[in-house]
Amino acid sequence: MSKVAAPIRRPFGPLPDLVPVIGQGTWIMGDTPNRGTEVATLRAGIAAGLTHIDTAELYGGAEDLVGDAIKPASGIKREDLFIVSKVLPSNASHKGTIRACETALRRMGTSYLDVYLLHWRGSYPLAETMGALETLVEQGKIRAFGVSNFNIADLEEAESALTSGRIACNQVLYHLEERHIDGELIEHCRKSNIAVVGYSPFGHGRFPRASSEGGRALAAVAARTGATPRQVALAFLARKAPLFTIPKASSVAHAKENAGALTLALEPPDLAALEEAFPVNAGSDDELPML
Ligand code: NAP
Repeated sequence: MSKVAAPIRRPFGPLPDLVPVIGQGTWIMGDTPNRGTEVATLRAGIAAGLTHIDTAELYGGAEDLVGDAIKPASGIKREDLFIVSKVLPSNASHKGTIRACETALRRMGTSYLDVYLLHWRGSYPLAETMGALETLVEQGKIRAFGVSNFNIADLEEAESALTSGRIACNQVLYHLEERHIDGELIEHCRKSNIAVVGYSPFGHGRFPRASSEGGRALAAVAARTGATPRQVALAFLARKAPLFTIPKASSVAHAKENAGALTLALEPPDLAALEEAFPVNAGSDDELPML
């Protein structure tokens, strides 16, 4: 049997929470004519177990959209959610990081974020940004912090700049045709107790076509497990600790389909078939690709 009874959850880095391995992205949401549908989609996803919500200062109206989706009248309880946002590198001075976080809190109508990330490495010294993130923890505005698009050397530098806190997560590009992080980064993070959150799990809209070799492998596993190819892809991308994945959907049907992967545990023969169809990219993950 590949279906498990309850959603698959795991600890998120050093946090004690058990977080569902599949969440909801929000890039290119919030500033579209479909705002009503997007609110309904986030709520349907949350109701189906996709309670980890990923947003960012960069995503324009997305933080506001999340605020709309989770407002008290929705009946959604803040403590049932795991909300992550990100500061833009160009704002990641000490003051700028604190200001961006406070703006995010206001937009989302919440008093705290579960995790706040530096979106990618920019020109502010890492020690300055890490110091601001530690201050935000001390102020109770965030529970934990992390980084995004960091290779191992960047992670080590960020960690060595910390005085009190720990890096909870590294959010990086990860989909079936982009598996550089399977080289070393996932294992490095596992050993360091850092959650790895894979973004753009559907290739940012470039999912393997059904007629391709990969598409046929996905279809075969889907048929064996009674799942859809998208669900198989998500289950593969979140197949082991410390992996999480955050697909973005802007329709209720897509969110529900993605949530269906929360209970899909792939068996070794299915994992092997997918490994063969989507091999790890050659080359080092020093030069981490990003969108
Ligand atoms: P993605 O999740 O790889 O793909 C989104 C596309 O897949 C959309 O076209 C969506 O269509 C479609 N889709 C979703 N569920 C589907 C389903 N069940 N069936 C068919 N199509 C489906 O793209 P992404 O937005 O780039 O990545 C996900 C999230 O990762 C972002 O939203 C963002 O939160 C985060 N991210 C972070 C970074 C970073 O630098 N840290 C970079 C990129 C992304 P519909 O919209 O029509 O549902």
